[in-house]
Formats: sequence, structure tokens, C-alpha cells
Amino acid sequence: MNTQSFSSAVSNVESKGFLDIELDPELDLFAAIEQLKKEKNAVVLAHYYQEPDIQDIADYIGDSLGLAQQAEKTEADMIVFAGVHFMAETAKILNPAKKVVIPDFKAGCSLSDSCPPPLFKTFRDQHPDHVVVSYINCSAGIKALSDVIVTSSNAKVIVESFPKEQKIIFAPDKNLGAWINKVTGRNMLLWNGACQVHEIFSQEKISRLKIRHPKAKLIAHPECEEPILKMADYIGSTTGLLKFSQTDDSQEYIVATETGILHQMIKANPFKTFIPAPPDNSCACNDCPHMKRNTLEKIYLCMKYETPAIHMDETLRLAARKPIDRMLEISAQAGL
Ligand code: SF4
Repeated sequence: MNTQSFSSAVSNVESKGFLDIELDPELDLFAAIEQLKKEKNAVVLAHYYQEPDIQDIADYIGDSLGLAQQAEKTEADMIVFAGVHFMAETAKILNPAKKVVIPDFKAGCSLSDSCPPPLFKTFRDQHPDHVVVSYINCSAGIKALSDVIVTSSNAKVIVESFPKEQKIIFAPDKNLGAWINKVTGRNMLLWNGACQVHEIFSQEKISRLKIRHPKAKLIAHPECEEPILKMADYIGSTTGLLKFSQTDDSQEYIVATETGILHQMIKANPFKTFIPAPPDNSCACNDCPHMKRNTLEKIYLCMKYETPAIHMDETLRLAARKPIDRMLEISAQAGL
């Protein structure tokens, strides 16, 4: 995600260029962030894909659904969103009276970028008899064009809440959409978007790992491509994978999602072994370059200077809020 794509969006961030500020190397960032939380009545929400240090200073760690629920109900004056841009946007959509700051305004998302609102609107207008179900990993502009939002935790339940004969467009993730089609028996029309992190796992390297670790179970996020999902012993959202690692009785797992989740898996299961599934390149594990733009230093600075902050046009915000509210209602009814 580059700066230009943000400036072309209706919502935007402000930046005072504070990232050039040099911090005192003696500063205890953990203590300083805790102090700022108290002074500013701030809450730090962190996605599972953040660095371990960031997860450890967060007040709440979760996946997209959990973070959206926390953002909606927080009574803090400032939400510090350690995740990527569309997640901070979602927090602003749900709780507009709060100041929402993000550590790095360049923390975008390849999946969100793969679905530009003007192109998607043309596509949607070509299929007027379809309802639009969109994965939460999309811009406010796409949310505003949708009938209901889903996360990987609740997508199956929400798609099944529509009558079988209802025609559905699913955006932006084609892999998640294909998996939902498979588990629900639906035939949703899929937008051709994908996440760069979940698309590059190597089937061959995972097969070799499975030979070396014959007792290890492969657990995978549904944003992965079908050949990886076919090999998996369990498929689930990030929260689902974490819960599975706690309730399943195996001792070893190969984890096909962003590596940040391993921190919570190891904390919850100190005697089990977790191996990151290797991507189809020279790296041993698979980090999201956008999520990993955030650092403790940037969190401290964005809290101290209260910038970059998310601002959003009110018409866009209200239009984007409607399908999120629908998701939260259906999720609550289903006890998710
Ligand atoms: S892991 Fe994929 S979907 Fe999540 S923020 Fe990174 S690029 Fe986007």
C-alpha cells in the first residue's frame, strides 16, 4: 500500500512527520506506553499478527471480529490500533467519537488494495439481483457498497443466514470465498482478490515438513489457496486456530497463517511445538510486511502526538456502518 492509494480514499490520515523524531535510547518504551495509556485514557488494540512485544503491551489482542467488537464497546478516549489501515477505519466507523490513531499510516493491506471501490461498484451494478457479502479486510468504500460484512470467524454462519436461492457476490478474497462455497454448498460469485501472505505457502515445502514431522497437524487459515486447505487437518480463523491448538491433543503443529499468531499459541501451550508453514520463497516463515511496519517506538510516538489519526467523511461512515452492524447482530444471535 502506498501513500497515494490512501490519499485517493475518502477517509484519510494526518501525519506530522514525527517518525523522524529520534527517541532517547534509554527510554523504557513499555513503561512510557503504560504511562501514556493512563494520561490519555487510551486503549491499545492489537491484531494477532503484530510483533510479540506489541501483543504484550496491548490491552486486547484479537482477530478482525474481536477487534471490531472491542472498538465498538471501549470507553477509552483514544483507540491506538496496532494493525493495518482498514482495521483502524473499522474502529472509527464503529466508534466515531473516539480518536483513532495508527502507528504507521503506510500499514496497508494487499487484499484490501485488490478491490478498488470504483471497479467493484461497476461489478456490483452488473449483478443487481445479487446481495454483496464482503470480508472485513476491505476499505470503508467497499464496506459502503456491501449488504453485510463477515470475518473468517463468522462467514459461514452469515452466508447461511441467506436463503439458498439468494444470489451472492463475495468480495474481496477469492480463496476465502471458495472455501465458504465449499462448506456451505453455495455458489457465490467471487471477486478476484487475494492476500499476499496467505497465497504464497509452498505445498512442496509443507509436504516435506510433514514427512519430517509425521505427527504434526497442519492447521490453516481459509485465506490460503485450495491445495494447502486440502492438505490441512483443521481450517479456521486466526482465533479458531488458536483455540484448536488449546483443545486438540496433538503436540506438534504446522501453522499456515501469518507467523504473529505463534506468540499466543506458544504462550497458551508452552509444551507444544509450533512450526510456521514455509512460503514459496527463501524465507523460513511468512510475515505480513504491512502488519510488521508497526513497532513499539511508533506506538509510543502516535500516542504521544496523537497522530496519524483516522478521519472519515460522515456519509461514507454511515454507509459503511450499516453492513458491519448487520454482521455484529447476526454474530451476537449466533453466540459468536
Ligand atoms: S495478512 Fe494479508 S489480509 Fe492480513 S493485513 Fe496482511 S496482506 Fe492484508
